[in-house]
Amino acid sequence: MKTHRIALVPGDGIGKEVIPAGRTVLEALAAAHPDLHFDFELFDWGGDYYRRHGLMMPADGLDALRKKDAILFGSAGDPDIPDHITLWGLRLKICQGLDQYANIRPTRILPGIESPLRHCRTEDLDWVIVRENSEGEYSGVGGRAHQGQPLEVATDLSLMTRAGVERILRFAFRLAASRPRKLLTVITKSNAQRHAMVMWDEIAAQVASEFPAVTWDKELVDAATARMVNRPASLDTIVATNLHADILSDLAAALAGSLGIAPTANLNPERVTPSMFEPIHGSAFDIMGKGLANPIGTFWSIVLMLEHLGEPHAAQQLMHAIEQVTANPSLHTRDLGGTATTAAVTEAVCAQLAAAKRHTAHA
Ligand code: ATP
Repeated sequence: MKTHRIALVPGDGIGKEVIPAGRTVLEALAAAHPDLHFDFELFDWGGDYYRRHGLMMPADGLDALRKKDAILFGSAGDPDIPDHITLWGLRLKICQGLDQYANIRPTRILPGIESPLRHCRTEDLDWVIVRENSEGEYSGVGGRAHQGQPLEVATDLSLMTRAGVERILRFAFRLAASRPRKLLTVITKSNAQRHAMVMWDEIAAQVASEFPAVTWDKELVDAATARMVNRPASLDTIVATNLHADILSDLAAALAGSLGIAPTANLNPERVTPSMFEPIHGSAFDIMGKGLANPIGTFWSIVLMLEHLGEPHAAQQLMHAIEQVTANPSLHTRDLGGTATTAAVTEAVCAQLAAAKRHTAHA
C-alpha cells in the first residue's frame, strides 16, 4: 500500500473552489479503493499571501514541493496584482523551478458536451497538445530601459536551446507513438522566425528518424488554427512552443465545449521532481465565490495525476465517473449552458464513484 503525498495549491479566484472539490473527489476515490491513500498538504500561496509577504510563495517553497509526489494546482491571478507578477511568482516559478518541461493538454469532446463546431463528431476531435514548458517565449530574458521616457525600450527574448527543443520533441514523438493513430503535427512559425524556429524544424526531422512508426507533418501556427476548426480529424498529437501551444490549447478547449473542462499536466518526465496538474482555466474573477465554477477541468487533471502516480485503475474509474456526469445536462454548469453548481457536480462525481464501488462489491 502506497500513500501518495499531494501538495494542494489552490492559488486564486476559482482555484479556491475547484481544488477543494478536487480533494473531495480524491477522498471519495480513496474511500472506494482500500489500497489508495493520499496525504494532503495545503499551501495557501497566491494573491493573499502576496499582500501579507510581498511574494506569491515563500522563497523556500520549492523545497517543500520537492518532498511531494505530485502537485494539484488551481490558478494564479488577482485583480489587484499585475498578471506578470502572479504568473511569474507562482505558476511559472513552480513549473520552471521543478523543470516540468513537458506540458500536456488532452482535448476530447466528453459525452453530453456540444462542440461549437457544427459538423464535428466526437471521434473527429481527439488531440493531445504538447507544450514546451521551460523556455522559448517564456524564458524571461529581456528588459526595459528609459522607462517612462520617449526613448523607452522593452524586449522579451524568445530563447530556444538545442537540448530544450530536442527533449520536448522526443517527448512528443514518444507520446504520438503511444497513441493509436501515431500521428504528430509539429507547429512552428519558421517562415517569419528564421533562426530558432528553423532550428526547431531541423531538430524535428532529426528526432523523427528515431520514430519511424510515427507519421508527422509540419504546420505554421496561423494555419494550424484554421486546420483545428476546418479539419479537426486531421490532427492527433500536436507539439508547439510555449506561447504557440498556450494559445492553441485555449482554442482547443473552446472547440471541445468549454475552458472549464480542459485539463493540463506539467510533467517532469524523468520524475526527478514532482509533476503538477491543473485545469487549463485561470482565476475567472467574474464567477469566483458564486459556486458556479466548473470543477471538471480539475477532475480530469486528477485523472492525469493518477496515471502519472501509477494508479491507472483509479484514473480510469474517475474518468468514467466524469463522463457519466457530463452526459447528464442537468449536471452542466453555466459555462456549458446549465445551472448546476460546483458542489452539485462534485457530489455527482463522488456518487458515481461510490456506486462503482457498490457495483464491484456485489459482482
Ligand atoms: P487568468 O487571467 O487567470 O488566465 P481569466 O479570468 O482571464 O484568467 P479564464 O479564467 O481562463 O480567464 O477564463 C475566461 C472565462 O471563462 C472566465 O472569465 C469564465 O467566465 C470562464 N471560465 C473559465 N473557467 C471556468 C470554469 N471552470 N467554470 C466556469 N467558467 C469558467
